[in-house]
Amino acid sequence: QTNKNVVLHVADVNKHFGGLHALSDIDLQVKEGETHAIIGPNGAGKSTLLNVIIGRLAPSSGAVVFDGNVLTGRKPHEINQLGVARVFQTPEIFADLSVIQNVMTPAFAKRDGAFKINMFRAVENERAIREEAEHMLEDVGLIDRRETHAGALSRGDKRRLELAMCLIQKPRLLLLDEPTAGMSRHDTNTTIELLKKIKSRGMTKVIIEHDMHVVFSLADKITVLAGGRIIAEGAPDEVRGDQRVQEAYLGG
Ligand code: ADP
Ligand code: MG
Repeated sequence: QTNKNVVLHVADVNKHFGGLHALSDIDLQVKEGETHAIIGPNGAGKSTLLNVIIGRLAPSSGAVVFDGNVLTGRKPHEINQLGVARVFQTPEIFADLSVIQNVMTPAFAKRDGAFKINMFRAVENERAIREEAEHMLEDVGLIDRRETHAGALSRGDKRRLELAMCLIQKPRLLLLDEPTAGMSRHDTNTTIELLKKIKSRGMTKVIIEHDMHVVFSLADKITVLAGGRIIAEGAPDEVRGDQRVQEAYLGG
């Protein structure tokens, strides 16, 4: 556990909005292959932290380092090209395309260079990408709906589709922003099961969540934020019993 590489290092990050300290002295390390949850009550600074990581917000001080690259100062698409993908916040599915076309699109975008070389390569490529997309749809439980228009999917199924669109990019780091927000209990449970299933793939994941129960069964490590500060960090069992964590939730 302890000698795994650190993939993501949020180094002494502060973020102020005017006089409001949304993030204060945040220092956290995410290790290769781990599922690291960041939890905390509403207003704790979770979304701000995520936006700093993916380059949507510049920190007031400090830096984010991913895989030896300083992300701070780079544009979101550059950060994405380095292997950082984010799901669930902005549903960017193509409603008029079929489910499988949606999953194939990010793979085409990524291989665009090779795709343009000649028609033979293009056809070969398309076949390979379709097969890969089918695997992804099997994983997320949408294979039977591959020809359905994406716009006709239920809310829960749209999120599964987004996840498949993300997985086909084979990111090194997958960020999940409140993956069960607004879901029914049934969809929440299905999503947790799905996340457990893809956990075994070894992809490093950061899950932002305000519902503690969602992450206890998924996370290897939990960082608890409250009022823009880290108030506790550790394995799920360590964090669960922590007095400060209980108070932050009850008081928040
Ligand atoms: P969480 O995601 O944990 O609920 P946020 O990161 O959204 O918390 O917000 C943390 C604090 O920063 C809150 O007090 C929020 O009102 C404030 N905040 C977030 N974004 C902005 C912004 N763009 N401008 C000003 N204040 C903001
Ligand atoms: Mg938030």
